[in-house]
Amino acid sequence: MNILVCIKQVPDTSEIKIDPVTNTLIRAGVPSIVNPFDTYALEMAVQLKERYGGTVTVVTMGPPQARDALKHCLSVGADRAVLMTDRAVGGSDTLATSYILACVARTLGPFDIIFCGKQAIDGDTGQVGPEMAEHLGIAQITYSAGVDCQDGQVQVRREVDDGWEIIGADMPVVITVNKTQTEPRMATLMSKMAANRAVIQELHCADVVGMDMERVGLAGSPTKVKRTFTPERSKHGVKLEGMQAPDAARELVRLLGEKRLIS
Ligand code: FAD
Repeated sequence: MNILVCIKQVPDTSEIKIDPVTNTLIRAGVPSIVNPFDTYALEMAVQLKERYGGTVTVVTMGPPQARDALKHCLSVGADRAVLMTDRAVGGSDTLATSYILACVARTLGPFDIIFCGKQAIDGDTGQVGPEMAEHLGIAQITYSAGVDCQDGQVQVRREVDDGWEIIGADMPVVITVNKTQTEPRMATLMSKMAANRAVIQELHCADVVGMDMERVGLAGSPTKVKRTFTPERSKHGVKLEGMQAPDAARELVRLLGEKRLIS
């Protein structure tokens, strides 16, 4: 079984502090980690490989320092690591990022399963995995907390608000991973040393088969960030107290109507 795991290097949010003057994140000197959901995805992939054989490839699109994230993945069970890096992909939004990763998957593949985290803890959109499936024209299963395979199919335990769904899909498939009950394994000293010596394959745009350069980078990104700001805290809330729930609901509707927020 050939498995691809997409991993993103993100700032360690437990180390991030807010600048009290500008209210923006202080990123300088903040260490980077592998996006936590991606570590669960990688653990799932490695467990499948251990059960059924095959290889686990990890890929990231990012600057050269993302090599550290790839090395960590090699130290906890990945067989091969690929860094997609090129100035031309800088400024890509989620649509462009997922397009590039889909093209990279086609170039390196074929893969039976492509794993992504359910979301990255910095961008937080949760769009890249599902968009990759769409670009590749294959099935997707999101919010997975457990995977098994049988007869060319995957069975995924999918987390939903009120419990679990078990979903089956033919491979190839994109699966996005939530935190699971199995904690990702830790690297050992030996595995860290081996990962440090390992060769990380580098890809540039020219190496990626069939990539339309008009769909990558800032120019190929339909999302434009106009402004970033911290929302102001408002303390003008009204508490409806001392009423039964139906009366409180009626009063709420009246108040919203009065402010023309509902009609
Ligand atoms: P999500 O969709 O929440 O991530 C889900 C999963 O997808 C992850 O768990 C992981 O498995 C996979 N994944 C996500 N990103 C990657 C990746 N890069 N490599 C491998 N797997 C991945 N970011 C920059 O770093 N540099 C820029 O110059 C830049 N410019 C931007 C310009 C615009 C206009 C916009 C809107 C965004 C820009 N970004 C840039 C942010 C970038 O688009 C997102 O970081 C990226 O698309 C991932 O989105 P996300 O963090 O919401 O990931």
